[in-house]
This record gives sequence, C-alpha cells and structure tokens, in this order.
Amino acid sequence: MDLSYILNELGEERANYFNAVAPPIVQTSNFCFNTVADFRNALANEYQGNLYSRGLNPTIDILRKKLAALDGAEDALVFASGIAAVSIPVMALLQHGDEVICVENPYSWTIKLFKDLLPKFGISCTFVDGTDINQFKDAITTRTRLIYLESPNTFSFDVQDLTAIAQLAKAHGILTMIDNSYCSPIYQQPIAHGIDLVAQSATKYLGGHSDVVAGVLTGSKALLEQIFNNEYMNIGACLAPQNAWLLLRGLRTLPIRLEKTSATAEQVIYYLEQHPKVAQVLYPFSKANKDLALAKKQMKKCGGLFSIVLKEASLESIEKFCNSLQHFLMAVSWGGYESLVFPACAGINKNDFDQNNKRHILIRLYIGLEDASYLIKDLEQALALL
Ligand SMILES: *Cc1c(COP(=O)(O)O)cnc(C)c1O
Repeated sequence: MDLSYILNELGEERANYFNAVAPPIVQTSNFCFNTVADFRNALANEYQGNLYSRGLNPTIDILRKKLAALDGAEDALVFASGIAAVSIPVMALLQHGDEVICVENPYSWTIKLFKDLLPKFGISCTFVDGTDINQFKDAITTRTRLIYLESPNTFSFDVQDLTAIAQLAKAHGILTMIDNSYCSPIYQQPIAHGIDLVAQSATKYLGGHSDVVAGVLTGSKALLEQIFNNEYMNIGACLAPQNAWLLLRGLRTLPIRLEKTSATAEQVIYYLEQHPKVAQVLYPFSKANKDLALAKKQMKKCGGLFSIVLKEASLESIEKFCNSLQHFLMAVSWGGYESLVFPACAGINKNDFDQNNKRHILIRLYIGLEDASYLIKDLEQALALL
C-alpha cells in the first residue's frame, strides 16, 4: 500500500464527520443501542464494533488501520504504553510451564517482564546472544513457545537475523515477536521477514513530539483477536482517544521526521568518528559492526539513535561531558523533536560503575530535528572541556 495513502487517507471516512479534514476525537466511554438484539450482538463480540472505549473506539480505529498497514499486517492493537504492547501479548500467549527465548539486553522493562514478572506465573526465560543463530537453536526445548527479539536494541544496537530466526521458529511451531521501536515500519518490516508479532513504543518515532505515551502491536487478525478478547480487555491498558488523535497527527510527518533525524545523525556520527576524544560510535550501519551486512539487508536506514564511548571513559569524564552539553537534554526516551543524551552510568549505582564494563561506559545520543551544525557545535564545546 502506498505510504502517502496510508498516512493521508486510509481509515478516514470524512463523510461520517462533517467532512472535517482532521479526524474527530470521539471522547466517549460508551456507545448506545436501539434494541436489545443490537445490544446483545455487540456484547457477544467486542472486537467487532463500538461498545465501550476500553475496547474499540472510532478515533482509535483510524489509528489501528494506519498502523496495521504501515507494518504490512492484518491488524493492529494500540495500548496505553509501549511496554503494555510488549507485556500484554506475551502474557496472553503464554501459560504456566511455557518457556521463552529472549535476546539479551532488550529494553529494561522487558528484562523485568521476563526475569521477574513471568516467573511468578511459572513461565521461564532464557536470554541468548541474538547475533548467533546457534544460541537460539541450542536454547529451544519442547516447552519453548515464544522467541522474543529486539533488533536492533537501543543501547548497543546489536542486530538479529530476522528471516533465519523466523524460519527456525516456524520449523518448531514457536511464535516470534519483535520490538521494532528503533526502526519503526519506515526502516524495517519484520512481518515481511516472517515475524508473527511486532510491538513498538509509539511514544518514540510514531508520536514524535514527546507529548504522548503509547504502544502498538501488529500481527495476524487471529492472534490479535485472541489477545484482545483476553489480556487486552482484562488488563485494560487502553489508549485514550485524545492520545490516539495525537498519534494520528504525529504519523502525518513520520517519514519526513525520520528522514531529517537520520540525515542529521549521519553528519553528527561522521564528526564524532573523526574526533580524537571519541573511541567508538555504536550504530547498526557502523563499519565496526560485525553484522553490518545483515543490518543493511534487513534495515533501510538507521534513525537518530546511537551510542558513543569516550577515549577517557572514567565516570568523571562521562559526567563532565554530559553535564556540559547545552542543547542535548538529559532524559530518557527518544524519537521526539529534541536531541537527548542518556549516559548508561546514570542507571548504575556509582559504586558499581566499572570502567572496564563495555555497557557501563556507553553514552547514548538521540538526534532530534535541530540542524547538524547546531548540535556539532554543542558536542565540540563539551568534548573540548575533557
Ligand atoms: C521506550 C521503549 C519501550 C517502552 O515504551 P513506553 O512507551 O515507554 O512504554 C519499549 N521498547 C523500546 C525499545 C523502547 O525504547
């Protein structure tokens, strides 16, 4: 389907709302019926029509259609957060006694889901190095029900071979799921590689303005209906119509925002890679990435997110560099209009910091919509102080 059609027209039946160009926010909790027969029909299957806004809602429906089409999926569900779009399907599809294989170092709350939350319900997880297909092969048992991927992840940007892993999983009757937040559907299409379920934090690129927290899950209608009729409705992490509207607005500019952030990131990375005080820049298309060819095969481009390692990677140097930045805001998240810095050491107790631990010394940068020269000047002055 044409990207312009998806973003400008799909799902927007303007005759239903006064030919307004922008869709309405249908700010209602419930929908009414004329007859008991109609009401009974609606209650019998909430997935089929508007009944109550914890389930379906017309503003959210427009968003779901666009998000499904962007991923090349049959259907989409939206959630109150990205982590709800990860946790709820996983909880819906697994049962006591099942096992999960998860790539190591995914998003922090995904680790917590697999390490702490699911074991409470008798579900266990093995974490594997996702860059090695043999590690998946070796970890599969008769109880493995799900392989969970995040390619690339959002601190060290390791990639997994989506096609090979999807084939392996299918041969064993195992479901596959990926967190595709880093790429968004503009730069990577996991369903075309055979992955069953695709989750994203819509808080990041899809929203794009740092003003809404939301999540999306796409996949087959059958799987999504199962998830909807069970944990989705039961846990109730639904998106408010107002937030769905903000996402619809964000989506209009998704391709041009990504284009800009990606092009600026390339310029900033080029500058940093030449800088004598920078030891390394980590991103999927880096020449130093051992899986560069694979990254280029399954991703169209990298976005605005990457990490750097300083030559002098002491806690003092890292803190001084980050504290000195004037235009990169120090914050979690990414995908908005503003450039950000997130040193990994901020998430580590000072006494546990180990300069020889590769993960501790990463400084993650996100490039927003500012001009490259504006950001490079800021990096220049902060690096000069070291
Ligand atoms: C932010 C993020 C999430 C969680 O999304 P929320 O919208 O914050 O709940 C999940 N995965 C990745 C890769 C993220 O960056």
